[in-house]
Amino acid sequence: MTAQSYIFHLADEAATLALAALFAPHLRNGAVVYLHGDLGAGKTTFSRGLLQAMGHQGNVKSPTYTLVEPYSIGDQQVFHFDLYRLRDPEELEFMGIRDYFANGNLCLIEWPERGYGLLADADLQLQLQIYQEQRQLRVTANHTEAMLWMDAIKRDWEQAQ
Ligand code: ADP
Ligand code: MG
Repeated sequence: MTAQSYIFHLADEAATLALAALFAPHLRNGAVVYLHGDLGAGKTTFSRGLLQAMGHQGNVKSPTYTLVEPYSIGDQQVFHFDLYRLRDPEELEFMGIRDYFANGNLCLIEWPERGYGLLADADLQLQLQIYQEQRQLRVTANHTEAMLWMDAIKRDWEQAQ
């Protein structure tokens, strides 16, 4: 099976948060999501929209210095990574990276390319791009089930427009 992708146009921050919220019902049983894109592209904004839609109340801070920020939402464990400052992939070994990918956990990973080779494969890959001061998001689904999530998200999104 080949990966399939779809592009969403996000006119403002509210649109990024609204689209992220549509992912929440599909990612509850654990998934790995890679968030690609330059600084300021909207990776953390997207993560915040998703976490808040899942029921997290309060701040979502960028785990730039800590590398990972854990969230416990009901019985769902969510780990939000930002690997921008990762100097040596060995740091990931030291933090016991494999344990984070245990069944049922949801892992959101900004700058996954810095951890190449040590991360679990992504179910979904998100590529955010700045486009005329707005944002464009390409979502790639890496397996059949993820494609079904994406189809549902796409339908909900189009209905809301
Ligand atoms: P990253 O984590 O990729 O470095 P952040 O989410 O921290 O990026 O910052 C993204 C910035 O872009 C924030 O200031 C946010 O308000 C803004 N932003 C998010 N989505 C959009 C959008 N669709 N259009 C315009 N600005 C956006
Ligand atoms: Mg960020």
